[in-house]
Amino acid sequence: PYTGPSAAEISKKRKEYLSPSIVHLFKNPLNLVDGKMQYLYDENGRRYLDAFGGIATVCCGHCHPDVVAAIINQTKRLQHSTVLYLNHAIADFAEALASKLPGDLKVVFFTNSGTEANELALMMARLYTGCHDIISLRNGYHGNAAGTMGATAQSNYKFNTVQIGVHHALNPDQYRGVFGSDGVKYAGDVQEIIDYGTCGRVAGFIAEAIQGVGGILELAPGYLPAVYSSIRKAGGLCIADEVQSGFARTGSHFWGFEAHDVVPDIVTMAKGIGNGIPIGAVVTTPEIAKVLTYRTYFNTFGGNPVCAAGGLAVLRVIEKEKLQQNAFVVGSYLKERLTSLKDKHEIIGDVRGRGLMLGIELVTDRQLKTPAKAEILHLMDQMKELGVLVGKGGFHGNVFRITPPLCFTKEDADFLVDVMDYTLSKM
Ligand code: PMP
Repeated sequence: PYTGPSAAEISKKRKEYLSPSIVHLFKNPLNLVDGKMQYLYDENGRRYLDAFGGIATVCCGHCHPDVVAAIINQTKRLQHSTVLYLNHAIADFAEALASKLPGDLKVVFFTNSGTEANELALMMARLYTGCHDIISLRNGYHGNAAGTMGATAQSNYKFNTVQIGVHHALNPDQYRGVFGSDGVKYAGDVQEIIDYGTCGRVAGFIAEAIQGVGGILELAPGYLPAVYSSIRKAGGLCIADEVQSGFARTGSHFWGFEAHDVVPDIVTMAKGIGNGIPIGAVVTTPEIAKVLTYRTYFNTFGGNPVCAAGGLAVLRVIEKEKLQQNAFVVGSYLKERLTSLKDKHEIIGDVRGRGLMLGIELVTDRQLKTPAKAEILHLMDQMKELGVLVGKGGFHGNVFRITPPLCFTKEDADFLVDVMDYTLSKM
């Protein structure tokens, strides 16, 4: 049993010693002390079904024994920086990761987070093209450092810092967007930005295939191929941010961009890559990777032996346990059940997503699509009381985010939907 400090004691310390901007999902914050696969346990040993997976971070399951063993074994043997010496862990992981990517995408740079991965990707695009302008999508999230905060396009996550040479294109949002599901029409806006907002040449374009923080919005079909074509004509590189949609989460594919029939020039990843340990990566072609040889580029802990060993174990577990297939089967079943809740509950405006990356947008008026902001907080709290943790997101904060560990079962899906149905009925 847990004998550490109580939730109240931890809250007090957090208030005194940690960032005042910490977000709490619940009225009474949860004190989590243990995790096992798709379950989390609080200080009293109470079990919760985790349908948020630490923001799509946990892909194999909490404390998956193979991943834990790989981390412990490597920690006992050696942990150090990767920069100066050889070690097999980083090389083995890079080789395995490259084998998961199409085309010529086979040079890997490791980082410690998604922000760092995207910062590096943006810099490479700028160096490679000799241009500065980057186009990203409104409602996208790419990180919180100087460059990535520019590409991030939600005021909620932007501080008043200088932002130069970033343009935010119309979001191909199939629920609220002006062109519905016509991806090619939205892509016209990127061409217009190139034509009217730049010298006609750009460094690149960055987008998530499914916006995670933005509320599980899947780019309208036809959008990415049209945009990639415009960007390449303007000399730019296409960057796929797979921080949330990568690592088998979408079920139908290993990477989110694959559902759109495109091959990016640079792919960035984090979160699921390490099943909870801090690691990120940028994968690109040998030709683009060369831009970093003109100066010294190094990252003290990027691809360190412990995180690399953990990452390699994650890839093996995804394969061994057929987690992509599971994400597809369980995710499709869950989406179907959630969609049927829409007939019963007027507050559900939209059910969307792919595999185990699903979103449910709540509105108080289906015609006006008025965000149900207060209602979602109440519902999340009630679901927590019944033992189910879901996330929330979207610009208005009115979208349930369901991104569980990929070992989620049909029974878990049933429990989640039943609990959601019950709390919606009680409201
Ligand atoms: N890209 C996407 C799509 C993300 O969702 C996030 C984190 N929410 C990031 C980048 C930034 O990753 P990190 O928080 O690890 O810096």
